[in-house]
Amino acid sequence: MSETKAEELKEKLFLKRKNGRLCADENVLKQCEIYCEDYKAFLDSAKTEREAVKTAIALAESRGFKEFEIGKKYKPGDRVYINNRGKSAAFAVIGKQPVEKGINITAAHIDSPRLDLKPNPLYEELELALFKTHYYGGIKKYQWTALPLALHGVFALKDGSVKEVCIGEEDNEPKFVINDLLPHLAQEQNKRTLNDGIKGEELNVLVGSHPFKDDKGSELVKLNVLELFNKKYGITESDFLSAELEMVPALKACDIGIDRSMIGAYGQDDRVCAYPALTAVLDVENPEKTAIAILADKEEVGSMGNTGLESDFLRYVIHDLARMQGGDGTVAIRNSKCLSADVNAGMDPTFQSVNEKRNAAMLNYGVVLTKYTGARGKSGTSDASAEFVAEIRSMLDNAGIIWQTGELGSVDIGGGGTVAQFIANMGADVVDLGVPVLSMHAPFETTAKLDVYMCHRAMYEFMK
Ligand code: MN
Ligand code: MN
Repeated sequence: MSETKAEELKEKLFLKRKNGRLCADENVLKQCEIYCEDYKAFLDSAKTEREAVKTAIALAESRGFKEFEIGKKYKPGDRVYINNRGKSAAFAVIGKQPVEKGINITAAHIDSPRLDLKPNPLYEELELALFKTHYYGGIKKYQWTALPLALHGVFALKDGSVKEVCIGEEDNEPKFVINDLLPHLAQEQNKRTLNDGIKGEELNVLVGSHPFKDDKGSELVKLNVLELFNKKYGITESDFLSAELEMVPALKACDIGIDRSMIGAYGQDDRVCAYPALTAVLDVENPEKTAIAILADKEEVGSMGNTGLESDFLRYVIHDLARMQGGDGTVAIRNSKCLSADVNAGMDPTFQSVNEKRNAAMLNYGVVLTKYTGARGKSGTSDASAEFVAEIRSMLDNAGIIWQTGELGSVDIGGGGTVAQFIANMGADVVDLGVPVLSMHAPFETTAKLDVYMCHRAMYEFMK
């Protein structure tokens, strides 16, 4: 051995960071490919929170999950789900130990930044019909122009029926678009800051240009558009008032890179963690402790509302499960542990200055453990305890899972938060664990396949 004393000591004492594609064996990389094919299919069938819940429940039912019934006794190994208004859902596998002993929870969100139609969206101007929108979540508005869009969502009618809408996903279906100014005439626009390059009230979606054939009258293009909606869904203009209609990119998930090592798609924040949390709980059988994967809505707008994690939905789920065994839900929560499964920012070679590279996440370095998020001196974060981080670190290493740590940007450069804080507030132990993403919140986000698969393995290891 020609190793020097220093090399020997370094090997023993230094923290080693290594590209996961260099540590993973061929079989793992093969598994990762197979897993990500299914992940891409999930992304295409679950572009909104409602579609994600529907797709997730269908998958769960195919794996033996049944809708939870209050008052019914469940035994260890039983598999149940709770559907919260079709926009968030919890999936549980009952453990051998009483629920009071604590639950292993994974929590991800299934809402993504997008453009919601306003309650009164449709208008006509210069013989073109357009939709007014109000963006949802933190977007860079200029990114949403000159891009094919699809319309997803529901009309809820006064008679109580709900009409599902999806236009623009099939190749032969029409798409929608928000137009931008041509560079030739953008002299004034180019002087705006990037944030104002496209303003909120300029995110107007082109919906039609064909006038209703009549000899006179105004707003004939709008009339024709409404007639088409009426024929398809039986709605009139006032039905937009009780609708939830979302404009999302009409793009399919695909491989990125000539080596096919990455995935590009809309809505990977946070479906890139929601799908692993879901597939992990579906794989769990006869766990020691009860396992719950919760897919939440409204994270991108602060988790407010009865389908977000600021609500008591998760608390009630835990109380219901504990009560079913004659136990106390509060005790169960206090003994529970949670992986808050959300994305972190991957380092981008072009924009390295926003990160502090010793602590930032890299693509292909595995699932990211984020001790704290927050902004301006860790403000607004749930900073996980050293003890809980040690427990998770040990779990990941023992299972041979490739992982790294991450921080959301350099100090004072910005920041953000996840649902971790809300679950921490309930009194459970929580830490963030997720996948690094490039172009987060853009209409098309990039992740690395290896990190996605490691996220699934980590979620499974935690709940099994
Ligand atoms: Mn997120
Ligand atoms: Mn986000």
